[in-house]
Amino acid sequence: MSKHPAGRPSGVPAAQAAQAGTPLPASNFIRHIIDEDLARGTNAARTWGGAPGPATAHAGQPVDPAKIRTRFPPEPNGYLHFGHAKSICLNFGLARDYGGACHMRFDDTNPEKEGQEYVDAILDAVKWLGFGWDAFGTEHLYFASDYFDFMYQAAEHLIEAGHAYVDSLSAQQMRTLRGTLTEPGKPSPYRERGVAENLGLFRGMRAGRFAEGEHVLRAKIDMASPNINLRDPAIYRIRKAAHHRTGDAWCIYPMYTYAHPIEDALENITHSICTLEFEDQRPFYDWLLERLSESTTLPDGRILDGLLLRPVPRQYEFARLNLTYVVLSKRKLIELVEEGLVEGWDDPRMPTLVGARRRGYTPEGFRLFAERIGVAKSDSWIDYATLEECMREDLNERALRRIAVLDPLKLVIDNYPEALEEECQAPNHPQKPDWGRRSVPFSKELWIEREDFMEAPVKGYFRLFPPGVNAAGEATPGSRVRLRYGFVIECTGFDKDPAGRIVAVHCNYFPDSKSGTPGSDSYKVKGNIHWVSARHACTAEVRLYDRLFKMPHPGAGDRDLMLDLNPDSVKTVIGQLEPALRTAKPGEHYQFERHGYFVADRIDPVTGEPDFNRAVTLKDTWQK
Ligand code: ATP
Ligand code: MG
Repeated sequence: MSKHPAGRPSGVPAAQAAQAGTPLPASNFIRHIIDEDLARGTNAARTWGGAPGPATAHAGQPVDPAKIRTRFPPEPNGYLHFGHAKSICLNFGLARDYGGACHMRFDDTNPEKEGQEYVDAILDAVKWLGFGWDAFGTEHLYFASDYFDFMYQAAEHLIEAGHAYVDSLSAQQMRTLRGTLTEPGKPSPYRERGVAENLGLFRGMRAGRFAEGEHVLRAKIDMASPNINLRDPAIYRIRKAAHHRTGDAWCIYPMYTYAHPIEDALENITHSICTLEFEDQRPFYDWLLERLSESTTLPDGRILDGLLLRPVPRQYEFARLNLTYVVLSKRKLIELVEEGLVEGWDDPRMPTLVGARRRGYTPEGFRLFAERIGVAKSDSWIDYATLEECMREDLNERALRRIAVLDPLKLVIDNYPEALEEECQAPNHPQKPDWGRRSVPFSKELWIEREDFMEAPVKGYFRLFPPGVNAAGEATPGSRVRLRYGFVIECTGFDKDPAGRIVAVHCNYFPDSKSGTPGSDSYKVKGNIHWVSARHACTAEVRLYDRLFKMPHPGAGDRDLMLDLNPDSVKTVIGQLEPALRTAKPGEHYQFERHGYFVADRIDPVTGEPDFNRAVTLKDTWQK
């Protein structure tokens, strides 16, 4: 029987606190709850034994130096996606801002599909985003599987206190008795088993005496509860599977809904923040932690002490990130990888953090994005363009400017001496003079963009076009443009191959027009194009990425997700780049002038020179 009433004397019940947050901006509701908890001292008296543990480990220890404790608890069964980034920024960000600690916890209670590969990748991703789990002199890196012994002990405790029983119905029978949203459930015939029989069976489950599915341990709550999650949920099941960390030590594993609150409580978590789908689980979360923290007088007069420290953690729900044009679900992302529709988890089109990194997205861009979208209490869709805009803003600040010709066409300067080479000076960042300038070599043959020349110019076209004849039958000169950071040229003609494709453009240059030299600005031209010296160019593969899905809500309705894939999500070109890019290191960001933001990706083993990926264009090209 319960001795202590549920709830905390100085605490703020979840629902009430959430309501109090409603009038504030949505992005503040969790901070508002924390502010109130701090003001009321809800968690001020908690003690901390230096490591996760039950009440006995924390009792009598110093007051917890962490004002709040949050956690990021991924299951190591896949790579992290953009949705996880939101959760990481939120949980680690709150701990940072409030003088708290955020625990990095692997929720590895399900033996299937989990593995070390994912553990390593997840740790890397969190660090890459700029967060760490060191706080108050301790590394807060935890594995839920380390708590299996305690979880087992807690289950026996529940049995002894009369709050759990072994059920021997089949899964199908259990489903039938569970009832529906409109009909209450019915008790299992095994619900009234005595404590001794339950303990015997549960120990037998642990000892491996039964087959999978033969028995499950269930919490004994209320088969008539309007919340189906309280109709005696299963808390332990038999699973004869090896676990990536505990090996064959266990053949029973706790259910997620049972394990998670216990993990939080052992770690002294104050604010357990999860996505909205867990809202209906909150009553069970609270029920379980109350049962495990209260002391109970048994019918024979013995007193069972509570196992967990009070005040217990509280769960708060926020809206998951839904982002248009991608899917944020490990299960669906695995499908893309396994069906070979992308090159792997780190394909730059994937909405994973390893993919984003290769795509040239930045941690700062993600943090800006998390800040900008805020934290809401109801689900909505965020436009992919919002994420791109954050990346663009960040990359604009950090990317060196470079020149790249991505659809190369030869430009021959007929009056430029064959053997001559000279240097032009180009700024590394137009708004940051302190970043300096670099030399770009200039010579007789250059690469320019094919679209910067038109044989028959349309009205308003100010780039290169050849001499011609106007409507009145008069001869007109070829256009004059400035080769950015170089000379003014005048187009004189062009060459075609036998198939009629333009293969070279000819021009003359004005030797006294070099940018930055006295008098050079007396040349007035309307066009300004970029170029790369052909003799010096770095030839590189450049991948131009677009959205992975062509529909804003991929797979919406009953559509097959795979049918919504964008068939043109990557275009590979061979670009001619300014020679400084030859030594770009993987991960370095550049703005290719007039093209967008790029990142050096992998080094070609043959040439020793990098490939480049486009992170984002200079402007949003989708909002039309
Ligand atoms: P998925 O459904 O993609 O497998 P998950 O929720 O099962 O995701 P976990 O590894 O269990 O993945 O999640 C770790 C943490 O990340 C959880 O606290 C979860 O709430 C959070 N999270 C997962 N997806 C999102 C999302 N789209 N937006 C915000 N947070 C998310
Ligand atoms: Mg999951």
